[in-house]
Amino acid sequence: MKRKILLEDKCEQCGVEVETVLHALWECAMLDDIWDGVSDFEDRRQLGISNIRDLIILVREKRKNIDLMAMVMWTIWHRRNQIRVSTNDFPKAQLGKAGLGVVIHDCQGKAIASLSEQAPLPFSPVIVEAMAAARVMSFTQELGISEFMLEGDSEVVINSLRSKEPSLSSFGHILESAKSSLVTSKCIAFSHVRRTGNKVAHNLARHARHVRGLSVWVEDVPPLLYDVLFADPV
Ligand SMILES: [Zn+2]
Repeated sequence: MKRKILLEDKCEQCGVEVETVLHALWECAMLDDIWDGVSDFEDRRQLGISNIRDLIILVREKRKNIDLMAMVMWTIWHRRNQIRVSTNDFPKAQLGKAGLGVVIHDCQGKAIASLSEQAPLPFSPVIVEAMAAARVMSFTQELGISEFMLEGDSEVVINSLRSKEPSLSSFGHILESAKSSLVTSKCIAFSHVRRTGNKVAHNLARHARHVRGLSVWVEDVPPLLYDVLFADPV
């Protein structure tokens, strides 16, 4: 009788290090592709952490985005468990990146700032939309914009943003923490636009899938979007 022996203490991702929780979620070199694409956490290698508790304390101290960290960790854990129970190789293509695209216009429709950013997958499209909406809110604060309107092409995300009740959906906490972090900026309206009306943001999101980390363009849009922007109905 043949038996499959699970080498419990070795990390299944790198096959080199002993698999502690910290290693599986944070330290493993095989996670570089994911963590390097998460803004706020590109410096994880320099943090010198020895356990999860210290990590959480440090992330709070440094005022990094702890919700984002928790989401990424959940994703990594979910993927690890998928790999464990899967008989086939887990399709690596599915572990790609989602792109977030954000464009800030003034009231004449002129672009003031745009941003594209990678988010680690696998997230459902609606979670990516919620992350983009949360990114808009922190972006307006970073830019010192006092009042803004938020447009998005996901109806369900926009509806939960409008609602006074906290959302109990899988992305509710992302929106709640983004809304509560608005201190110097105020969102005066949340509106739903169809994807075609949001072509620039959509193109930025596509661009983000190929560009690592965060790119921000202030008072301009990236040259690759000129055609799209000027073709956009204002
Ligand atoms: Zn490992």
